[in-house]
Amino acid sequence: MTHSNPTEQATPEGQAAGVHFIHTRLKKEIEAGQVDRVITRFPPEPNGFLHIGHAKAIVLNFSMADTFGGYTNLRFDDTNPAKEEQRYIEAIKEDVRWLGYTWQNECYASDYFDTLYEYALHLIDAGLAYVDGQDAEVIKAQRGTLTEPGIPSPDRDRAVDENRALFERMRAGEFEDGAYVLRAKIDMAAPNINLRDPVLYRIRRQHHYRTGDQWCIYPTYDFTHGQSDAIEHITHSLCSLEFEDHRPLYDWFINHLPVPARPQQIEFARLNIDFTVLSKRRLTRLVDEGHVDGWDDPRMPTIAGLRRRGFTPQSIQNFCHEIGVTKAESVIPFGVLERNLRDDLNVRAERRMAVLKPLKVVLTNFDAEQPEYATLPNHPQDPSLGERQVPITKTLYIEQDDFMEDAPKKFFRLKPGGEVRLRGAFIVRCDEVIHNSEGQVVELRCSFDPESRSGLPGAERKVKGTIHWVSAEHAVPANVHLYDRLFNVPHPAKDKAVDFVTHINPDSVEHCGGAMVEPSLADWPAQTPVQFERLGYFIPDINSLPGKPVFNRAVTLRDTWAKLEKALRAQGT
Ligand code: ATP
Ligand code: MG
Repeated sequence: MTHSNPTEQATPEGQAAGVHFIHTRLKKEIEAGQVDRVITRFPPEPNGFLHIGHAKAIVLNFSMADTFGGYTNLRFDDTNPAKEEQRYIEAIKEDVRWLGYTWQNECYASDYFDTLYEYALHLIDAGLAYVDGQDAEVIKAQRGTLTEPGIPSPDRDRAVDENRALFERMRAGEFEDGAYVLRAKIDMAAPNINLRDPVLYRIRRQHHYRTGDQWCIYPTYDFTHGQSDAIEHITHSLCSLEFEDHRPLYDWFINHLPVPARPQQIEFARLNIDFTVLSKRRLTRLVDEGHVDGWDDPRMPTIAGLRRRGFTPQSIQNFCHEIGVTKAESVIPFGVLERNLRDDLNVRAERRMAVLKPLKVVLTNFDAEQPEYATLPNHPQDPSLGERQVPITKTLYIEQDDFMEDAPKKFFRLKPGGEVRLRGAFIVRCDEVIHNSEGQVVELRCSFDPESRSGLPGAERKVKGTIHWVSAEHAVPANVHLYDRLFNVPHPAKDKAVDFVTHINPDSVEHCGGAMVEPSLADWPAQTPVQFERLGYFIPDINSLPGKPVFNRAVTLRDTWAKLEKALRAQGT
């Protein structure tokens, strides 16, 4: 795997965003009249939730069909009864819809079990498939290697009638699991191992979440995938590179079966992102072993996790368009995904003030019985989003981090004897620091300068720092979760000798249970991102309640990881 510069990859020379080799190829075919429209499918196996890698495939499939006058099917490749579940179907549908895409047909490979069975009989009758009575291990051992041909099974030349009778009896449930398999009769010496008489059907007494106990034999993925595309009249089967070596096999099936269409397969490189894992097998482990709080844990790279974290469909689409589609494997920095979110939210998220770790400030010369109100714009560049009145009272909270007792010279926030502007209000000076018996700072006594009120003539008096605050009397207590990278190394699954879970970042979530937020955040609408000034973009968690808000931080305002990643990369980790 190579590290590629994402900006280079986004717009390779002379290539506009959204234009990539698949786009170019399809455009040519349309112009040459080889196809009149492009029909694609997104074919997940319902054995887990979708992740950001799937989003790349979704965006590609839907955008190509959309660009070239066709449509996209959502097809569940559900041939493995052991791992598939209805709840994954529901989750996948929700995620595709949320990403902003509408499929034409909802299809299931399991709906084609009858047709696939007929196809298998067709191959048997043509002398192109045989029933093998050897053990799975023996068959595997006989496949040979890249340098040695495979060993033909003693059953390879079984008569057609006998094959048919045995296969029908397999279906009828007359044999035990594993007693026989059906194999294609192609070429045991083929340089491509996939062509060395692959298994087409297995006996498996397993309940299927859709077909129930109707079948005790199940087709393999390889025998299902390409034919399903053909049955649906898919024109272009876009899939990730690991299927490149399977293409000759898929073509062989298509050439020898009475299928209604001939899809063409085009492969592209999978998406990899650093500091995370994108494989359902690994993500399933994280969930099953309790390393995370379910598939939609905001640290997960799943669509459900990203949504709960505060990502928007637009930011994910933009990200997928930016990274483009190539045949070269690369690892995209997580920061590229975050930058797309920031760019999207910067334009539309309203601004509010919230204090994550409050420090009490008493304004000694603030005697008004009634609160004053600071008028603050809801968005610095978009007046159409309005403004709001934020109450100021004698007792306020500021961020603990915005005060330092032994501050260095360059610390421009609050320090003993120092001045700072409270955002939208006035300048305060720290006159006295109150400690508890353990020496911790528990309160600041400050005086404010009435002449420096924002908006007043004379308010221009400048101090170097401006900090956020909330009124102690009006603020609403909140729970805030701050998220960081799920793993503390860029490529957690790279070293196969080390279990990837050992690289989980123990500080990947920080809970701020005592946060105080401005009143307007008490009942913030669900799924609506908001910027907490100076702190980042947040979204109410799914467990947020009116008056008891819970917020997740989607992303900080600046990329604090960029530097660190650069350093790590220089070390070659
Ligand atoms: P995983 O390895 O995570 O289990 P998968 O390929 O087995 O993924 P499927 O449900 O079979 O998962 O994937 C559905 C489609 O999504 C396939 O066409 C596959 O090529 C594509 N896809 C899966 N992961 C990625 C990825 N990281 N980048 C791009 N496309 C992907
Ligand atoms: Mg798969």
